[in-house]
Amino acid sequence: MSFLLSCPNCGVREVTDFGYGGEVAVRPTGKPDRRELNAYNYFRRNVAGVQREWWFHRSGCRAWFVAERDTTTNVVQWTALPQDAPASGDPQTPEASKAPGEGIVT
Ligand SMILES: [Zn+2]
Repeated sequence: MSFLLSCPNCGVREVTDFGYGGEVAVRPTGKPDRRELNAYNYFRRNVAGVQREWWFHRSGCRAWFVAERDTTTNVVQWTALPQDAPASGDPQTPEASKAPGEGIVT
């Protein structure tokens, strides 16, 4: 299925211009043990509904940005650079960090 994504720098483009970077995930703090590291690397919420995701504009400005997309309809609610992403009201949805392409810290 194809859909449109709006890069915060370049505007609306076909999704094939972008690379999917996965769900925004809570990054372990300090020195994680093996269990925490495995959970961070491999466990995903896999939401059927709206989730916050990382995207990379590989055929354009090559910037990482955050989007909220409904995984059941591919309707993209918004996109923003990580530092401009709105706060999430959901404690299970981490905020975007300032480190592009990486997980998130709150
Ligand atoms: Zn772009």
